Amino acid sequence: MSLDEYRRKRDFQITTEPKGQRARRTKKLIYVIQKHQASHLHYDFRLEWNGVLLSWAVPKGPSTDPSVKRLAMKVEDHPIEYANFEGVIPEGEYGGGTVMVWDRGTWEPEAPDVEEALERGDLKFTLHGKKLKGSWVLVRTARGWLLIKHRDEYASKEDVLTAQPRSAISNRLLREIALINHGNVEKAAKGDPAA
Ligand code: MN
Repeated sequence: MSLDEYRRKRDFQITTEPKGQRARRTKKLIYVIQKHQASHLHYDFRLEWNGVLLSWAVPKGPSTDPSVKRLAMKVEDHPIEYANFEGVIPEGEYGGGTVMVWDRGTWEPEAPDVEEALERGDLKFTLHGKKLKGSWVLVRTARGWLLIKHRDEYASKEDVLTAQPRSAISNRLLREIALINHGNVEKAAKGDPAA
């Protein structure tokens, strides 16, 4: 990750320069899920870390049921400002389609060393979103990462994706976002629950 070289060059037992992690921990880290109706509907799960949004594409979206494991494909880091993007990506461009900020909030790692957890492929964290809350894990398997809810007071068998289909920032459905941004309304509507 981006602070690796900085840390490699320093012995923090000797220098009083900051290691970088404790300072970051004092500031709340952004969490966002963007519902994205591109060629296929998916949910982009993003966690702020080291100045970027670590990103996973979750084809079926998150489940609050701890017995359900959702495939999460690691994709490229995104800029922090991307967390505010809700609108239309022009057809023919990368990811062309409609994007909704489906959930937003902050997150906290549950282990002290996030870098180590990511390398090990087992990142436990707590979400403080409008929709998703409580303890979760991203675990890496041979087939990719899995996003899984831990058992706690926020675990539920209810399908949060259909129960709460609207934007966390505008309260709009995908078709409404497409409409006001001159996107493909018919295509966007495929990602909304049937009326
Ligand atoms: Mn996407």
